[in-house]
Amino acid sequence: MSLDGVTLSLNAFAEAAVWLLEARCPLSDEGCDWTGPLGAKGANVQAHHEKCDFRVLTCPFCSEDTTPSEMESHLEECQESLSSKTLSC
Ligand SMILES: [Zn+2]
Ligand SMILES: [Zn+2]
Repeated sequence: MSLDGVTLSLNAFAEAAVWLLEARCPLSDEGCDWTGPLGAKGANVQAHHEKCDFRVLTCPFCSEDTTPSEMESHLEECQESLSSKTLSC
């Protein structure tokens, strides 16, 4: 019987337990109420954070702050207003 094997499986169990821990969004202070399992090395939290609506993105064209869900429509409007500005010039 190997003690190493026991230690290893205990570690694996501890790791799996960490994955299932309920984590909160890093932006919960900003008002995001997302919670979910942490995932491997926090992968679930990271995946949420990438599309979290409380994350502030800055538009590369007008430097206005927007959210991931509004970014797409903002970019369309923003580029439209930019091109109409160029045209009217
Ligand atoms: Zn969030
Ligand atoms: Zn913009």
